[in-house]
Amino acid sequence: MPEMNDYDVIVVGAGNAALCAALSAREGGSRVLVLEKAPLDERGGNSLFTAGGFRFVHDGVEDLRKDVLTDLSQAEIDQMVLPTLSKEQFMDDLLRVTEYETDDELAEMLIGRSRETVVWMRSHGVRFIPMFGRQSYKVDGKHHFYGGVNIEAVGGGYGLVDSLIRRAEKLGVEIRYATELRELLEDRRGAVTGVRVKGPEGYEEITARAVVLACGGFESNPEMRVRYLGPGWELCRVRGTRHNTGGGIRAALRIGAQPFGGWSTCHAVQWDISAPPFGDRVVLDNFQKHSYPIGIVVNLKGERFVDEGADYRNHTYAKYGREVMKQPRRTAVQIFDAKTIGMVRDEYRIRQVTKHSANTLEELAAALEIDPQGLVRTVAEFNAACRPGNYNPSVLDGMRTEGIEPPKSNWALPIDKPPFTGFVVTCGITFTFGGLRIDRTAAVLDTAGERIPGLFAAGELVGGIFYGNYLGGAGLMSGSVFGRQAGKSAAESAVRGRGA
Ligand SMILES: Cc1cc2nc3c(=O)[nH]c(=O)nc-3n(C[C@H](O)[C@H](O)[C@H](O)COP(=O)(O)OP(=O)(O)OC[C@H]3O[C@@H](n4cnc5c(N)ncnc54)[C@H](O)[C@@H]3O)c2cc1C
Repeated sequence: MPEMNDYDVIVVGAGNAALCAALSAREGGSRVLVLEKAPLDERGGNSLFTAGGFRFVHDGVEDLRKDVLTDLSQAEIDQMVLPTLSKEQFMDDLLRVTEYETDDELAEMLIGRSRETVVWMRSHGVRFIPMFGRQSYKVDGKHHFYGGVNIEAVGGGYGLVDSLIRRAEKLGVEIRYATELRELLEDRRGAVTGVRVKGPEGYEEITARAVVLACGGFESNPEMRVRYLGPGWELCRVRGTRHNTGGGIRAALRIGAQPFGGWSTCHAVQWDISAPPFGDRVVLDNFQKHSYPIGIVVNLKGERFVDEGADYRNHTYAKYGREVMKQPRRTAVQIFDAKTIGMVRDEYRIRQVTKHSANTLEELAAALEIDPQGLVRTVAEFNAACRPGNYNPSVLDGMRTEGIEPPKSNWALPIDKPPFTGFVVTCGITFTFGGLRIDRTAAVLDTAGERIPGLFAAGELVGGIFYGNYLGGAGLMSGSVFGRQAGKSAAESAVRGRGA
């Protein structure tokens, strides 16, 4: 006679990965409880702060209109030039940005199941549209999409989280807010049998046949940031939720889970210097400043320090925050002239932006505390190094500099037409790359490489996919693919536990 459990499956966290796991476990016939550390009015995790952009394999707009972009009108389709994304291209890009460190098995799963998982989400009521605003340039009257993350959930991260929660509640998933995982419970065999949580009424133990950890990384924990990312990291801004403090990772490591992935690196971007310590639920990701490929970036000495045009924004933005972190006062200034300022992304036009415009570089430098001589020298050298070509911001146009370090490898136009506008940024951390090791079933492995019975994981706290850098749109996709798998495996494990 199997013992009675409070639930079949407990899912820890209520972001995208957790909600996908909850839906999938529910599809498998489980009684599901979702435990979320944040109170109701702070729900949604990092997922809520996103643009809702997903990177997945597809064959272009005619393919997508069948089962993903089902709301698209013919007029919209006629305005779009949407490149396909093959499995091979997705894999190539992931390998390239992670310098071939990504785990083969996890990468194959992420990519191979990406499209079917988006269709599965659509079947659960998540709607998708093309990212007209942020991921396309208008050329000859048409939106030319670029960079591989071109489709977003309607309503961005808010819309995504809202539709997943609505669906989960409709299917009978129970969600408890303000309830934080503190410990995983185990039996004598080492199987996970539930959780110890701290909720509004204090400590409680809740039992289940399986537990899915989907409660984010440690980006909001300054002690863990310094310990793993290095000195100084207590001082970065956090782009998303303040609740991802590594509790799920630590609870799992305490029972012998295997640490895996890029523990000393993270996803971090150029983020407005005036942004608050954690994500702002109104401004959302608009503190990011991601048009640097069409400008230049200097530090307060007036020196350039990255190749702004090394690749598409989607392939460089997640590593350049770490470069800003290394600069004096963790500060940088992105500079555009009159030729390019009109092309910057919408996030540059928010009221909260930290910027200054001036007719001379000296004046700009003085207003933004940049060394004027350094800036004038850098811009003169940069302008002299630009080579002619066919400028096109929607492709890697090969318009590069020659003879300067670092080079600008694409979109290198001289900064010579006043007014000059500078945007002041610092480093904003998005999420951490180190986490737990899972296998194909999303089961958490122990340090001997064996499955920990009853324990599954998905989302940011899974290690091994991203190292050093990241591919735009792959975070949500990874949470959905592995969340869906973790929920399925947890439900199957619960059924086995019931002896059914
Ligand atoms: C500003 C911003 C923009 C982004 N834009 C994109 C984008 O467009 N596309 C993309 O793919 N990715 C994007 N990302 C990355 C993306 O947010 C993450 O990859 C993804 O949302 C992670 O999902 P998750 O479910 O693992 O974590 P989360 O959504 O962060 O969910 C984790 C949840 O666990 C809860 N939790 C934490 N600790 C505990 C505990 N001990 N007990 C119980 N609950 C706990 C948290 O409160 C949180 O709700 C962006 C991130 C940010 C911050």
